[in-house]
Amino acid sequence: MNEIKIFCPATIANLNCGFDILGLCLEGIGDEMIIKKSAEKGIKITKITGANLPLETEKNVAGVAALALINYIAFKGDAIKHGFEIEIHKKIKAGSGIGSSSASAAGAVFGINELLGKPFSKHELVNFAMKGEVVASGSEHADNVAPCLLGGFTLVRGYNPLDVIRIDAPSELYAVVLHPNIEVKTSDARAVLHPMIPLKDAITQTGNLGGLIAGLYTNDYNLIGRSLKDVLIEPLRKHLIPNFDQVKNTALQNGALGSGISGAGPSIFALCKGQEIAEKVALAMSESYQNTGIEFDIHISKINPEGTKII
Ligand code: ADP
Repeated sequence: MNEIKIFCPATIANLNCGFDILGLCLEGIGDEMIIKKSAEKGIKITKITGANLPLETEKNVAGVAALALINYIAFKGDAIKHGFEIEIHKKIKAGSGIGSSSASAAGAVFGINELLGKPFSKHELVNFAMKGEVVASGSEHADNVAPCLLGGFTLVRGYNPLDVIRIDAPSELYAVVLHPNIEVKTSDARAVLHPMIPLKDAITQTGNLGGLIAGLYTNDYNLIGRSLKDVLIEPLRKHLIPNFDQVKNTALQNGALGSGISGAGPSIFALCKGQEIAEKVALAMSESYQNTGIEFDIHISKINPEGTKII
């Protein structure tokens, strides 16, 4: 195989009680990438459509993640006799809060791994993909690249060594994502956070995180809903997203299990049981956002069990 075309899905990170450690994979929304073997060694980004992003390998998350992978192979002493050319066709807007940079990082390492005959498992690829995230946010983090690669829900239990746990989604679970067309810089969304948290809030948050994980394993939608709360981050960040409270309350009043900020925002997500409720919630969220005069996109998606895949 000399060339491969892949789908790299969008993801929702944090999920209220799992700041920086939880994520889920979306269906239908995602980028496409084409990766080819080339005679010239190294990594070259040859084409980007749908977004104005750097073609320089070191400035693009896809390039940096790909370099991490091939440099590791070289370090192990296995010479690769060719290089790789990458085309990125963006559908997920950068800075939308649904894992735009992560999709590129995950896609690059997934595609190259396939062309090399799969020396690494998808779990192992998370290590390389998260190196690419440094370009986007200044730190190696796996809360979007893990669900993008693995599908389902993922919990990053720890980084040293990386320990990612994949959890199947209950079959009737749907996500609604409203993406206001405004930019919230991840750096600004980080700057409003406090380095210290009150003990009582840590207890509430960890209780909810445990509840959410238990709810996912037992298909207990009511428990999932009770646990989708965020007492740490949302109160400090929500003012960055116009009409956040109104949209969230509308989602809950229309039957969503829970709602919150997707990643660092500005996207707002709601989780729902069943397609009918998801459609009702999406309509109500749209009507509520129309008052703002801000353009937005809305998506309804089942949880994608597969993650990054060949198309
Ligand atoms: P998101 O949550 O949507 O991924 P981030 O703020 O984390 O948003 O990432 C977007 C940042 O990453 C932008 O500054 C963008 O220029 C940079 N970036 C570099 N390469 C890419 C890429 N291939 N895809 C998306 N963003 C990229």
